[in-house]
Amino acid sequence: MDEALDHKGRNCWDRYGSETEMQAMDGLAGEYVDFLTRCKTERETVQWVLEQSRAFGFSEDIQQGAVVLPFRGKAVLLARRGENPLAEGLRLITAHVDTPHLDLKQHPLHEECQVGLMKTHYYGGLKKYQWLARPLALHGTVALADGSVVSVCLGEDDEEPVLTVLDLLPHLSRKQREETVEKAFVAEKLNVAVGHVPSLGGKESRVRQNVLELLHARYGFREEDLFSAELQIVPAGKARFVGLDRGLVGGYGQDDRLCVFAAFKAFMGAPASAHTQVLLLWDKEEIGSDGATGAKSRFMEYALTDIMEVWEPAARLRHVLGRSKAVSADVHAPMDPDYQDVHDKYNASLLGFGPVFSKFTGHGGKYGASEADAEYVAWFRALLARDAIPWQMAEMGKVDEGGGGTVAKELAVYGMEIIDFGPGVLSMHSPFEVSSKADLYATVQAYTAFYLS
Ligand code: MN
Ligand code: MN
Repeated sequence: MDEALDHKGRNCWDRYGSETEMQAMDGLAGEYVDFLTRCKTERETVQWVLEQSRAFGFSEDIQQGAVVLPFRGKAVLLARRGENPLAEGLRLITAHVDTPHLDLKQHPLHEECQVGLMKTHYYGGLKKYQWLARPLALHGTVALADGSVVSVCLGEDDEEPVLTVLDLLPHLSRKQREETVEKAFVAEKLNVAVGHVPSLGGKESRVRQNVLELLHARYGFREEDLFSAELQIVPAGKARFVGLDRGLVGGYGQDDRLCVFAAFKAFMGAPASAHTQVLLLWDKEEIGSDGATGAKSRFMEYALTDIMEVWEPAARLRHVLGRSKAVSADVHAPMDPDYQDVHDKYNASLLGFGPVFSKFTGHGGKYGASEADAEYVAWFRALLARDAIPWQMAEMGKVDEGGGGTVAKELAVYGMEIIDFGPGVLSMHSPFEVSSKADLYATVQAYTAFYLS
């Protein structure tokens, strides 16, 4: 027989091993590391997308064929008009810009034992102990009562101070060691150290008072302004290459900024083609996609309706969406070399073998899942085979080990064909997530092929 009957995954390092492609891979990874370093919050990521897309000629003027429609600085839809009528469907890639972090509480500031502290409320699924005893930065936005908005970014420049959550010394951790992880690390102890020097004025809480004075001097805000703030604690510092061979990328927020970046590169790199191409970035995925800027909101419907009214008033939204093909671009959990037992090795993915299809997500007996049709998977693998792009088909972990969801099910309700398809990330949801340079490269190729299909 000419063709092997069995399926073997294709290793990206072999597929893209030529000198030219290795150079292209390095260039792309360098840009990605820079992007990760700059974009640590949903607002910063959307801002980056806006600036970049304007440089590519995209604007909010729908009369043009290249449109970028932001929403509240936290979600954004980009569209490039295709040659075919809209009723023949879109080529849509969607990803999320939010990442697990610590939010400041509304009354964050207090003082204990001569240390100024700020209380936090964690956002998304994180392992609390990973946020202790490490340099942290403060990013966000404070809206003042006079209508002005102050952007905050503290702790990223080498000259600037950082913040940190204190951890208990091992010498006095006997009781803590006997607890389960869940009980040993509690949310109310996730307080960031923000000061130590007392104010010269005042009698009580002089460290706290001094922090208020410094905030006022630096940013012009008072304690009450913290009520109308979105201030996030994120890991401080740059994204970095990992390993002697620099084959891995380490950095905060790769779930899902790895897909945001790959999809953006593919979108901007693709010329206009038959179908209208859409890139849609959501907030709030990590906490269930609710709210005005999450995937359960009406943002996509309203934005597409606005576009249709200008481009093709006769088109119907239900046809445009119902005949669309879509990718839920979210990262996958590849086989962890040290915790292989949580994966079903026959249905797990590997770092370096390309982006991963998850036919469905959810947990247990596929609860909370949308599932891609067999026909769509067949269409997709034929597309990737044309350019010999590496890809994998996998489930996330053993059946009853846990699970997770993505925005796929929120868009599937419109009847579009949609499947989760994205590269693997190790140490997912940690302050220092790890991905493969080769997977990033293959993912851009795959998303480009999709946009041009
Ligand atoms: Mn994700
Ligand atoms: Mn996630």
